[in-house]
Amino acid sequence: MSNEATLVIIKPDGLKKSLTGNILSRLSESKLKIIGAKMVKVDIELANKHYHHLQKEPFYPELAKYITGQLHGENRVMPLVYWGEDAIKKVRAIAGATNPEQAEPISIRGAYGRILTTGLFENVIHASSSVEEAEREIKLWFGPGEIVCKLYPSKKTSEENDSKEIWV
Ligand code: UDP
Ligand code: MG
Repeated sequence: MSNEATLVIIKPDGLKKSLTGNILSRLSESKLKIIGAKMVKVDIELANKHYHHLQKEPFYPELAKYITGQLHGENRVMPLVYWGEDAIKKVRAIAGATNPEQAEPISIRGAYGRILTTGLFENVIHASSSVEEAEREIKLWFGPGEIVCKLYPSKKTSEENDSKEIWV
């Protein structure tokens, strides 16, 4: 097994319920390394890009409200990049199944998630589900300069006086 990166996002319910510490403790059991972390205000454009594959789903309008914080009066989320052996599978296992009622009770989603009356799975964290998805998502949420190692190829923009690093 080789080293890989995966994106975790503590969703607005996780922040609203003050679960950040619990979630990070659970994830630390994986012995993976955190190589990026920050707080982000999520607007609809970012939500649409992140969940682009779900936009035709009947639950998408509710999901968009959830991730942009409209359900919790909390438009912050906390994205993190974890790195190490088998990172995607390890984080998905600790996160638990998408449906919190089907998730292992000791998983993060099993312990802290719930299903809303609208049917939406309010499941506390996002976790990438493949290497390709992880790369797309990490590049969406983080710039090269926000990750402490060189994950994917990047380049300097050639604007005078204001050169910045971007993904290739
Ligand atoms: N979701 C939902 N109902 C569904 C499927 C998904 O509410 O039937 C929500 C849930 O919050 C989930 C997110 O949409 O985490 C993204 O769905 P995905 O299928 O990618 O699940 P995940 O990868 O998050 O486990
Ligand atoms: Mg997914």
